[in-house]
Formats: sequence, C-alpha cells, structure tokens
Amino acid sequence: MSLNGKTAIVTGSNSGIGLGIARELARAGADVVLNSYTDRDEDHALARDLGAEFGVSARYVAADLSKGDAARGLVEEVGRCDILVNNAGIQHVAPIDEFPVEKWDAILAIMLSSAFHTTAVALPMMRKAGWGRVVNLASAHGLTASPYKSAYVAAKHGMVGMTKVVALETARDPITANAICPGYVLTPLVEAQIPDTMEKYGMGRDEVIEKVMLERQPSKEFATVEQIGGTAVFLCSDAAAQITGTTLSVDGGWTAL
Ligand code: NAD
Repeated sequence: MSLNGKTAIVTGSNSGIGLGIARELARAGADVVLNSYTDRDEDHALARDLGAEFGVSARYVAADLSKGDAARGLVEEVGRCDILVNNAGIQHVAPIDEFPVEKWDAILAIMLSSAFHTTAVALPMMRKAGWGRVVNLASAHGLTASPYKSAYVAAKHGMVGMTKVVALETARDPITANAICPGYVLTPLVEAQIPDTMEKYGMGRDEVIEKVMLERQPSKEFATVEQIGGTAVFLCSDAAAQITGTTLSVDGGWTAL
C-alpha cells in the first residue's frame, strides 16, 4: 500500500491516536501535517523526526481548533489535502446537571465543529485533485452511551452523523468518508481519567483499568494507536474505495455486546 504523493492533515496529532495515525500514514508514504493548539519547539521537532524516520515531508502547523477560523485556516495554510483525519479531542466527565457550560462548548467545538470546518475547506481540494479520504475519529461512544459523558457522547454521535452526510455528498466523487470507532486506547486522554476514577471507586490503578475502563471491552485489552493508525491506512487504500459513510469499530467487541 503506497500513499506516496498524498498529503495528509491529521488534527490533534502531537500525541496519542493522532500521532499514531500520522506515523502509520507516513510509514505508508504519505506526506503528513501534524497539528495541535501549542506552538512549541518540541511540536516542530516531532514533525521533523517523523519526516526523517519515514523519508516523507512532515510539518507541524499550530491551530486552536476550538475556533472555526483557525480550523479552516489550518487546511487553507497547507493548501492541499488528500487525506483529512479529524482526530482532535478532549474529555470532561460530570453529571449533566453539573456539567460546566464552557466544557460542553469546548468539547462540541473541538470534536465536532472543527471537523465541519476542516471538511468544508478540504473537500474542494480533494475534488480538484480527483481523490480524497476523510477519516473521522468517532468512538464506541459514537454508537453507545455512558453516563457522565454527555458532551463527548453527543459530539461523537454527531461525528458519525456528519460522516454519513459527507459520504452522501461525495458519493459520485472518488472520495470516501468514514468514521473509526475505537474502544479504550491507552493514551494521555485516557490516562488523565485514571486518578479521578481511582478516587471515585476507591480502587487501585489495575482494578480501575480492568473493572471500570475495560468492563465493556470483552477482549479486556486496550486497542493500540498502531491498530487505529493501521485502520486509517486501510481506509485510504484502494481496497476501501467502496467503503463510505460507515463506521469501523476497533473496540475489542464492545459494540457487539
Ligand atoms: P490525546 O489527548 O492523546 O490527543 C488529543 C489530541 O487533540 C492532542 O494532540 C491534543 O493536543 C489535541 N487537541 C486538544 N485540544 C485541541 C485544540 N483546541 N486544537 C487542536 N488540537 C487539540 O487523546 P487521544 O486518546 O489520542 O484522542 C484522540 C481522538 O481519539 C479523540 O477524538 C478521542 O475522542 C478519540 N478516541 C479516543 C479513545 C481512547 O480510548 N483514547 C477512544 C475513542 C476515541
């Protein structure tokens, strides 16, 4: 599978799943654009190292995706987008009647509205290039719900819905749009939930992982960023050219329950 000559923009990719996807796309030969809201030397170094490791062009573009103009500006600045991976995300856990309004707004803006903005700018570029792939990071929480995650579950269900619309609007173009729905993947976003959960349930770290986090993941194993990256590469392959408007679960059986 070669993605030589393709340019991939991966939002929220200086850590976790986004970085894992960028690495697998680069391994397959794509030029990659990393992104997050920070603009540190280490962010740019990450891109330089990735480019050197896989012999592709790689750069880091800072953009705070909580702002629509910045999300549009990211794709405009790159000027070319064959593969768009909408991955940036945050989490906040609280009962709905205590859910901070600013957290609700931020989660919806970063995880759903930003994908609307990047897609709106990227699709004309894909049509002009005659090929395109939109890969949206939804979640098992795009298909099922858990308590205390109202904004996250709403954003991810929204992401699945928007993916279907993009697929229908591009159905006659050589462009596909799909959503990957991971179960739990051990990334900084998940790590950050462990201390609170330990305190809430009076459990140790291993017990939280096994009995709370992986409770609904029948494999009792985390998915890995490499597996999510490999799934994204598959969706960019010729074999996946007729796969559009759907969800691909990488969740150890969670949604089969
Ligand atoms: P992570 O915290 O490691 O990565 C999130 C990325 O988004 C980071 O690069 C972060 O800097 C970036 N980001 C956050 N706010 C941003 C902003 N305002 N502008 C630009 N970038 C911003 O988390 P992750 O687990 O790798 O999550 C990546 C995606 O995968 C998210 O959409 C998440 O919901 C989804 N997901 C994660 C899991 C899991 O178990 N880890 C499961 C299902 C879905």
